[in-house]
Amino acid sequence: MAQVGIIGSGPAGMIAALALAQSGHEVTLIGPPASTTDARSTAIMAPGLRLLGELGVLDTIKAATAPLQTMRIIDGTRRLLRAPVVTFHAREIGEDAFGLNVPNAFLNRTLAQALAGAGVTVQAAAANAVTDQGRAVIVGFGDGETLAFEGVVGADGKDSLCRSAAGIATRQTDLPQSALVGQFSHTRHHNFISNEFHTESGPFTTVPLPGGFASSFVWVVDPQEATRLAALDAGAISLAVEKRMESLLGAVTLDRNAAVQAWPLSGVLARSAAAGNIALIGEAAHRFPPIGAQGLNLTLRDVAELRRVLSENSSPATAFGFFATARARDMAVRYASVMALNRSLLSGLLPVQAARSAGLAMLARFPELRGFVMREGLQPGSGWAGLSQSLRRLSERQDA
Ligand SMILES: Cc1cc2nc3c(=O)[nH]c(=O)nc-3n(C[C@H](O)[C@H](O)[C@H](O)COP(=O)(O)OP(=O)(O)OC[C@H]3O[C@@H](n4cnc5c(N)ncnc54)[C@H](O)[C@@H]3O)c2cc1C
Repeated sequence: MAQVGIIGSGPAGMIAALALAQSGHEVTLIGPPASTTDARSTAIMAPGLRLLGELGVLDTIKAATAPLQTMRIIDGTRRLLRAPVVTFHAREIGEDAFGLNVPNAFLNRTLAQALAGAGVTVQAAAANAVTDQGRAVIVGFGDGETLAFEGVVGADGKDSLCRSAAGIATRQTDLPQSALVGQFSHTRHHNFISNEFHTESGPFTTVPLPGGFASSFVWVVDPQEATRLAALDAGAISLAVEKRMESLLGAVTLDRNAAVQAWPLSGVLARSAAAGNIALIGEAAHRFPPIGAQGLNLTLRDVAELRRVLSENSSPATAFGFFATARARDMAVRYASVMALNRSLLSGLLPVQAARSAGLAMLARFPELRGFVMREGLQPGSGWAGLSQSLRRLSERQDA
């Protein structure tokens, strides 16, 4: 079993620490405690929930979350070419729900509590130096202290120190967008539907919260508009949110005390998920705008793979080599597709809008294609298996 240092105690780092400690590795989690004031919520899909179940935190999470049974994409642009509404029902692919919508502050608290009983050593300080010396990785702190590990996992977010230390280059794109996030109550039941309005500035998404009459929202706008909206009083921001979603959920009320936060967006893709004795997970490896709830779900697949390679290889460098190969395609495909969809929303070019509208129109029309996209959205590779089954059934129906 390996002696592993995980740098960064956001959701990625904490989940990796639980998974690796449970597999018997000697784990030290390094970093300031995760935020308990993060106003975002995260839609975690069924495969990711299975991992959280294995780590023993799913029951706690279930008690404070709402199932995501239906996802609806609505063209909220005022452009010449508008796409039809596309609705994805989890039952179309034989699932009760796509996943659960978990408030980030609650997720962070739950994970931190689970860590306490998991045998993980916690070093609640930021690392200021990481050096891969070949036989060991040395992690340094501001007070001069150092720790040595056989392998280090960088879960230290978008400006990752571990990524620089490993010499891993990135593809980076600054985006002219911020995500305004918060929670609101509404007078119509959400019926466990998540609505993603595609607008000229990016998506505006609502995701159901427990009880039926509360949802969280993510509103992607340009940074100046985000600052303006975040400064509005409760009545004005409630009205703005209600108007943006065309009163789909009735009258909207934002709690005056609830936080509304603006998160600047960017795209970051590490050229490799590992080098030498350092592996990268979460936003240290991939970051993109919040479209289709992909970010943390991709991270959960990073963690599952990390656990697998470290259980099959005693040397972290060998394990991390396999890890980089195994994660390359999933990371690149998610990054490229989310960035392309985001670009197609921002683009004023008619051919780009035509392509986006045509794609959504095909999805609205063909259940087999919707099934493919839903399965691929949940778990890469499973869409192809589902699509070939659907096509076989279709051709059998036509032959009969
Ligand atoms: C508005 C918005 C909505 C989103 N919605 C969804 C969704 O519905 N579904 C989904 O799957 N994903 C979603 N995501 C993505 C998801 O939130 C992120 O993938 C996830 O929060 C990133 O977690 P992380 O742990 O990788 O990074 P972070 O949360 O950034 O954590 C990095 C941690 O590293 C620490 N750190 C940094 N440097 C050091 C250092 N030198 N030493 C020690 N510690 C260090 C930081 O303090 C921090 O705690 C969304 C993202 C945004 C912006």
